[in-house]
Amino acid sequence: MILRSILLLSFFHIFFIACKSECETCKGKGKITCKVCYGDGKNKCEECEGVGESDCLYCDGDGIEKCSTCYGSGKNTCSKCAGAGTAYDYDYSISEYTYMTCNDCYGAGKERCNSCMGSGGDNCISCFSGKIKCDNCEGEGKTECGTCISQGEVKCADCNGKGEY
Ligand SMILES: [Zn+2]
Ligand SMILES: [Zn+2]
Ligand SMILES: [Zn+2]
Ligand SMILES: [Zn+2]
Ligand SMILES: [Zn+2]
Ligand SMILES: [Zn+2]
Repeated sequence: MILRSILLLSFFHIFFIACKSECETCKGKGKITCKVCYGDGKNKCEECEGVGESDCLYCDGDGIEKCSTCYGSGKNTCSKCAGAGTAYDYDYSISEYTYMTCNDCYGAGKERCNSCMGSGGDNCISCFSGKIKCDNCEGEGKTECGTCISQGEVKCADCNGKGEY
């Protein structure tokens, strides 16, 4: 019984091919897979290389805007000793002016940056995580295929969409 069904099917198949000349390009479907998007209907976004986001230009992608005063170090050269760590100051122990350890920076030569309170920077106001969403693809990483108008298939040119000759 099964064998008969197969034979019957094959018969119809041969009959079909004999009667109509099926378009080989589209296998009779009248449509072929879009060569630009490979049937996806979408293409990789060229702006972001398909990632959907790019590094924030303001913070170089680290989400922190570096303090412009201390360049992100959180420290500035001590204004009292100019970084030397020692300053000409009154020494109470010997009751005279002398070079002694700078009491502003305790000899470190650096003081905390007042602009950023020593943090070195602040959260970037332009982004949340150092990344910004790609404008071109709205963060999807893909753009609609213009060749097939997002259908994934285009009309077969060989048979003009009929699927047969
Ligand atoms: Zn065709
Ligand atoms: Zn940023
Ligand atoms: Zn100092
Ligand atoms: Zn600073
Ligand atoms: Zn993109
Ligand atoms: Zn396409």
